[in-house]
Amino acid sequence: MSASIAERLRAGTMLGAEGYVFELERRGYIKAGPFVPEVVLDFPDAVRQLHREFLRAGADVMVALTYYAHREKLRDVGREGDLEAMNRQAVRIAREVAREGDALVAGNVCNTWAYDPDDPSTVATVRAMYAEQLGWAAEEGVDFVISETNDYLGEALIALEVIQDLGLPAMVTMAPTQPKLTRDGYEYADACRILAAEGAQIVGLNCDRGPRTMLPLIARIRDTVECAVAVQPVPYRTDAIAPTMETLRSPDGERAFPIALDSFTCTRFDMAQFAVQARELGVNYVGICCGAGPHHVRAMAEALGRVVPASKYSPSMELHPMFRADVSAKDAAFLHSWNA
Ligand SMILES: [Zn+2]
Repeated sequence: MSASIAERLRAGTMLGAEGYVFELERRGYIKAGPFVPEVVLDFPDAVRQLHREFLRAGADVMVALTYYAHREKLRDVGREGDLEAMNRQAVRIAREVAREGDALVAGNVCNTWAYDPDDPSTVATVRAMYAEQLGWAAEEGVDFVISETNDYLGEALIALEVIQDLGLPAMVTMAPTQPKLTRDGYEYADACRILAAEGAQIVGLNCDRGPRTMLPLIARIRDTVECAVAVQPVPYRTDAIAPTMETLRSPDGERAFPIALDSFTCTRFDMAQFAVQARELGVNYVGICCGAGPHHVRAMAEALGRVVPASKYSPSMELHPMFRADVSAKDAAFLHSWNA
């Protein structure tokens, strides 16, 4: 029998892989803008394939692609009638691929865009959205639930309650879009402390920030909470000037988010280094978010000391005609012009 999330966290660092929406958008199956995962119903094989690529790269969890598959967003694209089918199918696909390896299946909810801390009536709306999505996920069978990209602690706490009502373990992560505080005014570490006190098994941050600007925040969280900590940055080179992917600008000043971020993409080596740094901080669930490719995940897995199915095709640069030690005179001449 597959080990539970609690057993896996005790055994060592878990590896997560997300960013399904960005990757499937690049592949032509999701529309940028609404970013609704219609692909789950329209091209299920595309979803299956990406799960499989992350699984082969070493991901310990197949996250059901229900990100933005909630009532508010489906209404935007005129597919509210497909809500239940989309949610159920996403979990089924994730389960199917998880069984091809030894991965867990996570249900997934995110910020709803319906929550307003100044309007108490929105609490019931948000709770109903989470309850229907996660009710279907629980019926289809998930091992735990990831509530992510939370802008508001208040909204994250609603998700946590719904997850607990279903008797499932909860991983709840905030989106660090602001310099220090959640949109409802809590320091990220305080928000995580409150989520942990309310019973979340794993707390932390995901999305928005790249490795460099994510690490200092996650270090504070690690120092603040006793429970397991998760971090899933975006693989983009954010820095002190542009600490989030939303603030990155091209050389001519254009906003790069969300579909012109390519030139800021981290290499696999950047992400491998990040995985080691996060583990050294004591992070228990190290992953990657929007922008991720399977090559990043494999490099992270290998940096954490694993050999994964896709390692069969990991680089052997000593066999490259231009890098090998016994490069012939003819090739050496070619290489000279190559290096010039
Ligand atoms: Zn993301």
